[in-house]
Amino acid sequence: MPESTVLSELTHVDPPTTNYNTLKNEEENSGSPNESGFMVNKRAMYEPGAVMVCSQKRACCVVTLGFIAIITIALIVAFTKPGCPEATYTGEPFPGQSNHPTVSPPSTPPTATNGEEFPWADVRLPFHVRPLHYDISLHPNLTTRHVQGEMTIKLTTIEETTAIIIHGHELNVSQYSLKNKYGKPIEIIKFLIYPRHQQLYLGLDEILRRGSNYTLKMSFETTLKEELDGFYLSSYINGDGEKRYIATTHFEPTSARSAFPCFDEPHLKAKFHLSIYRDSQHFTLFNMPQQTTVPVEGSDLFLDEFQESVEMSTYLVAFIVCDYDLVYNFTEHNVKVSVYAPPNMINQANYSLRIASHILDYYDKFFGVAYPLPKQDLIAIPDFGAGAMENWGLITYRETALMFDKNNTSSRSQQRVAVAIAHELAHQWFGNLVTMSWWSDLWLNEGFASFMENIGAAVAEPGWAMEEQFIVEKMHPALSLDALLASHPISTPVTDPAQIESIFDTISYKKGASIISMLESFIGRNMLQEGLRLYLDSHRYGNAATDDLWEALTTVTKKHGKELDIKGIMDTWTLQAGFPLISVSLQDGHVTASQARFLVCEENVTDPNEPLNTTLGYRWHVPLTYITSGNPHNQTMHWMNLTDVDFDVARDTKWIKVNVGQRGFYRVSYDMAGWEALNNVLQTNIDTLSPADRASLIDDVFTLVNPFCTTIQNWAGTVSATVALDLSLYLKKETKYIPWHTALGHLFKWVRLIFNYPAHTLMLDYIHTLVRPHYETIGWNDTGTHLERLLRSEVLWAAVQCGNSHAIQEAQQRFSSWRTNNDSIPPNLRSVVYSTGVRYGTEEDWRHCWQVYNSSSIPSEKGLMLKAMAQTRDPWLMQQYLEYTLDATKIRPQDVMTVLKQVSKNPGGRLSAWRMVRQHWSQISQLFGHGSFTMGAIIKAVTSPFTSSFDLGEVEAFFKDVDVGPGERALAQALETIRLHIQWHEHNLDSLTSWLHQHLSHSQTVKGSGDSA
Ligand SMILES: [Zn+2]
Repeated sequence: MPESTVLSELTHVDPPTTNYNTLKNEEENSGSPNESGFMVNKRAMYEPGAVMVCSQKRACCVVTLGFIAIITIALIVAFTKPGCPEATYTGEPFPGQSNHPTVSPPSTPPTATNGEEFPWADVRLPFHVRPLHYDISLHPNLTTRHVQGEMTIKLTTIEETTAIIIHGHELNVSQYSLKNKYGKPIEIIKFLIYPRHQQLYLGLDEILRRGSNYTLKMSFETTLKEELDGFYLSSYINGDGEKRYIATTHFEPTSARSAFPCFDEPHLKAKFHLSIYRDSQHFTLFNMPQQTTVPVEGSDLFLDEFQESVEMSTYLVAFIVCDYDLVYNFTEHNVKVSVYAPPNMINQANYSLRIASHILDYYDKFFGVAYPLPKQDLIAIPDFGAGAMENWGLITYRETALMFDKNNTSSRSQQRVAVAIAHELAHQWFGNLVTMSWWSDLWLNEGFASFMENIGAAVAEPGWAMEEQFIVEKMHPALSLDALLASHPISTPVTDPAQIESIFDTISYKKGASIISMLESFIGRNMLQEGLRLYLDSHRYGNAATDDLWEALTTVTKKHGKELDIKGIMDTWTLQAGFPLISVSLQDGHVTASQARFLVCEENVTDPNEPLNTTLGYRWHVPLTYITSGNPHNQTMHWMNLTDVDFDVARDTKWIKVNVGQRGFYRVSYDMAGWEALNNVLQTNIDTLSPADRASLIDDVFTLVNPFCTTIQNWAGTVSATVALDLSLYLKKETKYIPWHTALGHLFKWVRLIFNYPAHTLMLDYIHTLVRPHYETIGWNDTGTHLERLLRSEVLWAAVQCGNSHAIQEAQQRFSSWRTNNDSIPPNLRSVVYSTGVRYGTEEDWRHCWQVYNSSSIPSEKGLMLKAMAQTRDPWLMQQYLEYTLDATKIRPQDVMTVLKQVSKNPGGRLSAWRMVRQHWSQISQLFGHGSFTMGAIIKAVTSPFTSSFDLGEVEAFFKDVDVGPGERALAQALETIRLHIQWHEHNLDSLTSWLHQHLSHSQTVKGSGDSA
């Protein structure tokens, strides 16, 4: 799934324990699959005192403790004598699992709901059985929310066992039975439920033989959920103003188990067959096409039955009951592509349909494996927690990520649609066809889909410069987050659902994409493509881990005569948190470049990740690329293989620019002479450096103004704010989107940081001197290339924020004629017009936007209204708007985060938003259910404007006794960020203020184009 907005993270650690050991037993992990093709095995059990488990292959020894009699019946385990050399857990991982146990077993014995001990302590399932086939029958009632389900699972036994443990969450299981392959019943003598691990235990009165097949049947009941995961209810208002309901699913990562009992781990793939009851006004969708539909005798119901799926993971299963319309076409390979939407929105579905089939055709060729299903549906869901979800053959989207109306939707929103479609379609290969073995390698799915989304969107829209936009969309946000101590390695151990949820974050998505882009930069697209094809082909319908990808790429690069240790290189980027700062100096044609981890941090802190990463020592294999004054168009590359380098260039070289096009995931700092020389290039001959290189200089220098630490012993210290400001002066001549987007992001961040200081006005005045020349040339006509349109929208809004009276008047005038005469506003001007109209408008203006928000059937328009309404300067309206977030009939839960974030960005709203979140914390967390990453995102959104010790104290005090669940890491990042803001002031406020005074006294600041103020 793509990131919805800002994703959060956490580290969830259960209380420490002294009584229980959860031990991993790695079996047959040497690469040769056992008879069922199952590569590995894992056992875990608990016991007060101690349990030792060792390699099953060696089948050594036994320790028995009286207590474990029940477990001995339940699970056949290899025991070990104390002192057996194999008895120590050596840290061999099972699929996707780290060497580092992360979740301690519970501090009290697992207790089932009936009070009995639950004989399985591990949050992961045992490997004794695996599913082959699910036959699911569901009868959801959209009025009463009641769901009746029946299910038959064909299982095979990997090892002898007398128990089956399966996932189930909030299911009321009423009947269960087990039969062997001859149909003979096997008695289930015990049925236990352990809600904490969302597991069901079926104890049997006989041993299931290794390699045999069995059939497990279960009947269960549940309800359509209110939260946005599992099998849940959503609704929309149709063209006649009537409320219509739809029942839909979102299972990734661990919610399939709340819709039906299942083995809910990504490597436990199986085939799925579904039948579902519905009434006559609805139809149903599943991953596969419908096979039959028959009326149910004695009722007005129908039973829809679907074709059997291919082998796939549980989290990719999807089914929907709705009354939508559709548009469809066919790909070159005759795959039926359909876009489904509410009838009053179906006219906004054609763009998605066109590009989806185009991209699907392209991916067929690019990956060299044809899309394997007969159909691909894309459907807009009115209430949707993420941005979209790649369910195989039935992709679900937020409305704003799928609907496009050319007269109303901005270029930014259109790009969002194209990117979301390209992302989810890439998952049909990366994630669906080949799935990560375990969630620890989530980045394999998400990093690749995030990398491919720019390529796919570029194919659909060649004029959009999607590949150029990669650095601002992926690289910059990833570098920003990954510079915090509270970051984490891309490959990171996770076990329980909350931990899994927490890694759907910027690191997995954007850093993942960035390091693949870096890999591509040194092996080339052709070799990358060939390696991907090999990887997909070797693991199709199966699972893979990060090393499998490196192996495929190594095979390919070797074949082409390139001796690269891909795994060795990439391990430094996936197994360590953070990235290096490369410090460069040039003297008389001699260049030295040294590397050390870059951390924006307080002084004297230690890295909490340190113990995990000691073997690599925070050194990286860095592909160091550069251009010089003597050779500005041809880049040269040197490898920094965990080391520093020095090399010679022409003696008369005036400047060197390192990390060409910012393809490498690292930052660069120069000595003072280096920065001055590059600044000189920008001021005198801007086109010598590409827009990407200009953007990378801005991004690096503004970031380096933060207090940071590296382990470079002789490092000269932070870069002064004046170096960044001096460099920013060239922006008066800048005309390109990528550098402007980067610069405005940093400049307005500084504005927010100094909100309470006199320098605040000076800073806005300064930004205005940069923006104004461009404002005057770019104008108010919504024309030009895609990037020009994106840029116009940002420059106009910057001008308004800087108080440019011409811009404010123009926006107000357009707002007023829209309000009173319904005059249309060009799509790319709407954001600035609506926001300015509300900011400088009346209560009636605000209410008009609220009315448009409620009545519009154009999702992108609704999104603009949500943002605009947060711009109000009226405290009462602001308060009312915030309170609407507690009422799902006013603001849909999926949009609460947007409102809180936008209000927090408004200087007049930040304290109200923070107060609101504190006051209604439990209600808000209830809104998002148990393990949503949204709570972390909310914490970040409302606390990110804070810059003082007082604010820090308040945030710390509030969260001291609050269980933030999956928001734990996001909270750590938020607190770290506030502390860094405080430090930023200490380091920079004085020099910033005096630079601004000095500079502005030289340049007459006249507000308003045409001096109309
Ligand atoms: Zn994704």
